[in-house]
Amino acid sequence: MGNKSATIVGAGLVGSLWAVFLTKAGYSVNIVELRSDLRNTDIAAGKSINLAFSQRGWTAFKAVGIEDQIKDFAIPMYGRTMHDAEGNLTYQPYGQEGQAIYSVSRGEINRRMMDIAEQHGAQIRFNEQCTGVDLENGITFFKNTKTGISSELKSDLIFGADGAFSAVRYRAMQKLDRFQYSQHYIEDGYREILLPANEDGTHKLSKNSLHIWPRGRFMLIALPNEDGSFTCTLFMPFENHEYAFDRLKTRTDVEHFFQTVFPDFYQLMPEIADAWEDHPLSSLAIIRCYPWTHGKVALMGDAAHATVPFYGQGMNCGFEDCSVMWSLMQKHGEDWDAIFREYEILRKPEGDAVQNLSLDNYLVMRDVVADPDFLLQKRFEREIQKLYPDKYIPLYSQVSFSDIPYSQAFEAGKKQDVWIKELMAKHDIEAMFNNNEIADFIHGLIAAQS
Ligand SMILES: Cc1cc2nc3c(=O)[nH]c(=O)nc-3n(C[C@H](O)[C@H](O)[C@H](O)COP(=O)(O)OP(=O)(O)OC[C@H]3O[C@@H](n4cnc5c(N)ncnc54)[C@H](O)[C@@H]3O)c2cc1C
Repeated sequence: MGNKSATIVGAGLVGSLWAVFLTKAGYSVNIVELRSDLRNTDIAAGKSINLAFSQRGWTAFKAVGIEDQIKDFAIPMYGRTMHDAEGNLTYQPYGQEGQAIYSVSRGEINRRMMDIAEQHGAQIRFNEQCTGVDLENGITFFKNTKTGISSELKSDLIFGADGAFSAVRYRAMQKLDRFQYSQHYIEDGYREILLPANEDGTHKLSKNSLHIWPRGRFMLIALPNEDGSFTCTLFMPFENHEYAFDRLKTRTDVEHFFQTVFPDFYQLMPEIADAWEDHPLSSLAIIRCYPWTHGKVALMGDAAHATVPFYGQGMNCGFEDCSVMWSLMQKHGEDWDAIFREYEILRKPEGDAVQNLSLDNYLVMRDVVADPDFLLQKRFEREIQKLYPDKYIPLYSQVSFSDIPYSQAFEAGKKQDVWIKELMAKHDIEAMFNNNEIADFIHGLIAAQS
């Protein structure tokens, strides 16, 4: 690639990874980042402290040869452990043996990618707030949050990777005629709680699981950290429900709530009321827009397709934006008009699909995940996949353990669900598992189909 320049707005997860790609391709890269350098602070940027990292993330990291730099702090989670209201546990593997999604620290992954981008020559300008973009001429305007000094930067390309509330999207793209935009807040918010490690540094819950306390209209989840702690997140309506954040006003309310609905968690963390205010109550939105590119500018990651976090795919989808843009660079060379056109045509349906999948999965996680029929259905699906891995991949595996387009997975998943539910209505699948007849039954099903 030639000696071209690019400005990336946002040194978050997607911007800092995209900088690695561009510098590898020989671009001179400047990143403009609103915050100060998180490598010098402990602040977790007010967002979730750890995230679930899966196949699409690995694919992007492998494309630039940096997967080993993430592996050493990624904790595999092989399944979900459900905690019912009596403290009974049920375990459900996510996929086939050895398949896992990974709990990674948001700060650590971001720090390492910034380091790698800088090692390849990218320059990161911290405390610089993007205030506008000239789409046609490739100019980024920004203002230093400490000195108040305004500056601008001209480059061949600009990438808006500045997150859900993207300034690039607001200040520039929305000036376009027929720019489509929608922002939908769900009625639930979230609050994080850090469950500390045992005194000897071990985890208080099994380490290699994502823990869920499904309670119908709300849920608590916990992801492991390397230091023995768990980052837990309570998702619940803000108001207008029996269990809602606005009902937890006092220490007594908080204690009573946890004692009543999450008794096993309360036993692990009787000091919950002290930690309640440690993290803010935050909202969750789905943001859709189109087009994603214009002139010299493209939106990537949450700036293009912010979603709710219930499939653990927002970041992974943003990383996939990078690997797709990268493969289009291999295809079109430096014809950025062609790259941008194909990028938005390919990726917009994927952004929409990941949003739809994420919304659907909230219902699964907070409610049906505890249902015996659901657990049986998942067991049945895993068995079909085990026997016929080329013919049947359950939806969760398509999303989390493959690079199959989200849109394709979403459609296939709907059909699979109908098919499996019909089979379960007609046949006693549980008895077949108990009598070791399940394999014969599945062989018969597949033979009848082919
Ligand atoms: C509670 C929660 C849990 C989640 N869990 C998961 C998960 O398990 N797995 C998963 O894949 N995804 C998860 N996500 C989604 C994930 O956090 C996002 O998809 C991901 O952070 C998007 O990365 P990004 O780089 O596009 O945006 P961000 O990470 O938001 O980064 C944007 C960057 O741009 C900077 N910026 C913003 N405005 C400006 C400006 N005007 N000028 C300059 N810089 C600016 C910001 O400071 C930031 O550094 C979760 C999200 C939430 C809220």
